[in-house]
Amino acid sequence: MQKNILIIGAGGAGLSCALSAHEAGANVKVITKEYPTRSQTCMAQGGINASFGNIKEDSVKSHITNTLKSAHSLADEKMVEFLCKKAVDTVQWLDKIGVCFSRTQDSKIAQRTLGGTSAPRACYAQDYTGLKILHTLYDRCLSKNIEILNERFLLELVCNNDEITGAKILNIRTGEVELHNASAVIIATGGYARIYDNHSTNSKASTGDGIAAAFKIGAKLSNMEFIQFHPTALKNSAILISESARGAGGYLLNSKGKRFVDELLPRDKVARAIDKQIKNKEDVFLDIRHLGEKFINEELPQERKLAKLYENIDPINDLIPIKPVAHYTMGGIDVDENSQTNIKGLFAVGECANHHIHGANRLGGNSLLELIVFGREVGKFAVKEAKEIDQKIEILDDIKLNENPEINFYEIKKELGNLFYSNVGITRDENSLNEALKKVQNYISKLPEMGIYDNSKVYNTNKIEFLEFTNTLLLAEVIIKSAIYRQESRGAHFRIDFQEEQQIFEKDTLVTKDGIV
Ligand SMILES: Cc1cc2nc3c(=O)[nH]c(=O)nc-3n(C[C@H](O)[C@H](O)[C@H](O)COP(=O)(O)OP(=O)(O)OC[C@H]3O[C@@H](n4cnc5c(N)ncnc54)[C@H](O)[C@@H]3O)c2cc1C
Repeated sequence: MQKNILIIGAGGAGLSCALSAHEAGANVKVITKEYPTRSQTCMAQGGINASFGNIKEDSVKSHITNTLKSAHSLADEKMVEFLCKKAVDTVQWLDKIGVCFSRTQDSKIAQRTLGGTSAPRACYAQDYTGLKILHTLYDRCLSKNIEILNERFLLELVCNNDEITGAKILNIRTGEVELHNASAVIIATGGYARIYDNHSTNSKASTGDGIAAAFKIGAKLSNMEFIQFHPTALKNSAILISESARGAGGYLLNSKGKRFVDELLPRDKVARAIDKQIKNKEDVFLDIRHLGEKFINEELPQERKLAKLYENIDPINDLIPIKPVAHYTMGGIDVDENSQTNIKGLFAVGECANHHIHGANRLGGNSLLELIVFGREVGKFAVKEAKEIDQKIEILDDIKLNENPEINFYEIKKELGNLFYSNVGITRDENSLNEALKKVQNYISKLPEMGIYDNSKVYNTNKIEFLEFTNTLLLAEVIIKSAIYRQESRGAHFRIDFQEEQQIFEKDTLVTKDGIV
């Protein structure tokens, strides 16, 4: 008998908690639908916040103040304090285990400015910060022989008497459905911004699968209407150009070559200013030409490569055409200070969880920090709480899906993305939201007419994409209903028909299967 901890997801959050649960003496198994090194964490460019003050004076207090201001009264002050106080130690731990942070002339960890902050606070590894962190955590897990099962898709969480007992997993390689039992399950499956389909910086995998699975067994979700739009994605591909480009002094220009906003305001404000320009038929560009080739090659090499590859322009000589797209989801599975959900034995961490840190608007650099800080905490806590069991894997019957679909779900998926971008986007109002709700409920009613075209057992990507689509559709309804309910504007949730913050909405939007509670 052992304490068996099942972690779903192998991004920064999943791997951090795998390491700490292993250290706490548990038998740890990580399940991931992709290879760990492909998890979205590898896309993070800008950095991870910690108030070292290596470039300019900084303090934990300023980090807390900036985070709370950006959260627009929806963050829990105690949680924010905990996060910010842990930041320096956490980055030092990452440094110690081998993350190759960029350095100052005197060998301190280099730091840069991101939007909404009072000091250069984001510690970075060129513009590959997430990738270096993820690869280091993965190396560390391999060196500890932690079991990582790749190409396994979470289908369902399994409960007995309101207590988690395991999860049903589709083995993508064999097509078999496996039931893995566990003393505790930690969801670390990332966010849901891919509901916006191609109008998102996110990896294709960010379809909110873990959030949907938790919701189906009765977990509470909160603040699902808060979706952050990043101001500077490449116009044609939605690939992110990091905020560090603006932090280093990049300008935002319209077609007339005029600057129209303070580039370092929080993301919601900059995104709305760009949106306004675009609605006035202006093109918008990021201009980093004046930063010079040497600086761009040293500090922003990935941005240059991405702009060349996806937009066919070289930022050293050319303006970068940009637009805001969905980037980060503040809402998620509602958890307490121990990352515990309302279901016994079920925990959530990383972008899939709402730890009440980011509130209505996340500060750049705080997400990577959250993954590692709470990842390491929940690993320990889940082990402390877990019961000892004998580990088992059972093979179950195949899941049944419609193999003769009349409606092509790929078309609906595209429609859903466009609908969300236009109606549940940077700005929304009652009409746009009601229209979106009607359409989404219509898609849901037609789900039985949708299904898969490929019934092969092994590596059936069509099946995975269909399952992911059903998850986004489930969450779509929750997001829209939450956005309709919140009759105010706050941070990333901007209602044209209610443009001010309202005190009665200075609280989380909590949703269960029974609706908003
Ligand atoms: C382009 C970009 C740049 C960013 N830059 C920064 C930055 O500079 N600083 C910062 O703080 N934040 C940044 N962010 C945000 C940050 O990177 C993410 O919030 C964070 O990496 C999410 O980590 P995670 O571990 O929660 O999830 P992810 O890294 O998304 O990992 C999710 C894991 O869950 C697995 N999974 C998902 N569904 C299933 C399923 N059904 N079954 C099994 N496994 C599943 C996936 O395979 C994956 O391993 C950026 C985000 C993007 C998109």
